[in-house]
Amino acid sequence: MALRIDILTLFPEALGPTLDTSIPGRASDGGAVSYHLHNIRDWTRDKHRTVDDRPFGGEPGMVMMCQPLHDAVMAVEGLDDRPTCRILMSPQGERLSQRRVEDLATRPRLLLIAGHYEGVDERVIEELQPMELSIGDYVLSGGEIPALVLVDAVVRLLPGVLGHKDSAGADSFAAAGPEGRRLLEGPHYTRPRQWHGRTVPDVLVSGDHEAVRQWRMRMMLDRTRQRRPDLLEADAQPLPRTPLTATTDEPTDEP
Ligand code: SAH
Repeated sequence: MALRIDILTLFPEALGPTLDTSIPGRASDGGAVSYHLHNIRDWTRDKHRTVDDRPFGGEPGMVMMCQPLHDAVMAVEGLDDRPTCRILMSPQGERLSQRRVEDLATRPRLLLIAGHYEGVDERVIEELQPMELSIGDYVLSGGEIPALVLVDAVVRLLPGVLGHKDSAGADSFAAAGPEGRRLLEGPHYTRPRQWHGRTVPDVLVSGDHEAVRQWRMRMMLDRTRQRRPDLLEADAQPLPRTPLTATTDEPTDEP
C-alpha cells in the first residue's frame, strides 16, 4: 500500500510544484506514495481566520496558536485508519539523518507539520507529542522547505521509486561501506574519457567488476577520511540495518 503523507502548513501553494516534480512526482505517479496538503487556516474559527498571535512575555514576532493546528491534526488523522507518525519540523528537533529517513520510509503514514513565524505554542506540542525533526543547525522562516527535504529523502527509498540502476543503496550515508558503515560515496565519471586533459580512472573502463568494487570501497574510505572523519568514528560499531520493507510503529534503531 502507498505511503500516505499529510502535510499541514499555512502555505500549501509552496509545496505542490516540488511534490509534482522529478522523483517525488514520479513516486506519486507510480503509486508508491500519496501526498495530501492541508491549510491549517481552514480550521480557524474566527472570521479573520487567525492562525497566529503575539507571544506572552513581550518578545517580538508571532506564534502559531494551539486550536487551529490541534483541530487540523485531529481532522486529518481521521481521514485514514492507518497509524500516523506525527512529525513537527523544528530547528530544535533531532537532526535528520539517513538512518531516521530509512526508518520513516518503513512507516505506513506520516503527518508533517510545518511551523511558521516564531514557531508553535508550546502547549500544542506537549499535547500532540510529535517527533521533532530538524534539517540542520540554522533557522528557516518556515517548515515548508524542511518538510520537502524530508519527503524527498523518504520517497526515493520507497520500493520501485528509483530504478535498480540508480538505486539509493550505494549513496552517501547509506549503510554501503565495509561492515555496513555509513560513508560518503566515491566520485562519478561519464563520457568522454578525456576532458581538459583529465582521464577517467583506468579501473572503471577495465571491465573487471571485482576491481571496480574494491576501487569504490577504497574511494569511499579515502573520501570519508578526508572530508568527514566524524563518520568513521561514529560508525566504529557496525550499525543495525533497518529493513526497508518492514512496517513498524516504533523505530528499530534509534540514532
Ligand atoms: N523561533 C524558533 C524558530 C522558528 S522558525 C527558534 O528559534 O527555535 C519557524 C518555523 O520554521 C519552525 O516552526 C519550523 O517549522 C521551521 N524551521 C525553521 N528552521 C528549521 C530547521 N532547521 N529544521 C526544521 N524546521 C525548521
